[in-house]
Amino acid sequence: MLFRSGPKSAQRMAFHLLQHDREGAAMLSRALYQAVEAVHHCAMCNTFSELEVCELCADPERDHALLCVVETPADQLMIEQTLTFKGLYFVLMGRLSPLDGVGPKQIHLEKLLKRAQDGLVKEVILSTNYTVEGEATAHYISELLGKHGLKITRIARGMPMGGEIEYVDAGTLAQAMMERRNV
Ligand code: ZN
Repeated sequence: MLFRSGPKSAQRMAFHLLQHDREGAAMLSRALYQAVEAVHHCAMCNTFSELEVCELCADPERDHALLCVVETPADQLMIEQTLTFKGLYFVLMGRLSPLDGVGPKQIHLEKLLKRAQDGLVKEVILSTNYTVEGEATAHYISELLGKHGLKITRIARGMPMGGEIEYVDAGTLAQAMMERRNV
């Protein structure tokens, strides 16, 4: 069964398991317990990992000069699936959101600052979401890292693949026009 993420779905899943699948519920609780015990944050990229340094960060084939900053492990996975990025990541595990009490400390910016200054990183690619909070986060990080002389870039916005102009929202279209490039 597929569940969308979120508290509502979690509740629905819990009810479903309690009602129809007690054995499954017991298995899930054991798995969660083990995960809580075993899973920590990678010392380099901050994503979930059972190892001190995750497999991706430890991969000698990756380009240590490129550091891509994303909000979540799911975002990282999406970029990995494009097979176009060979650098390393830093996973914030969130985004700045002062109203929800999420400040620079909660998204591990000190760890990022230290990580980006390892002497190997040449470019930090800000791949936070194009939401108000994601944009604010990107802006804050660019100010922070910019002060230390690092090259900062922002992932581009534009037309979705297979997107027809008629059906694209005006904001995306306006951005695609502004960020047009030579062909
Ligand atoms: Zn890692």
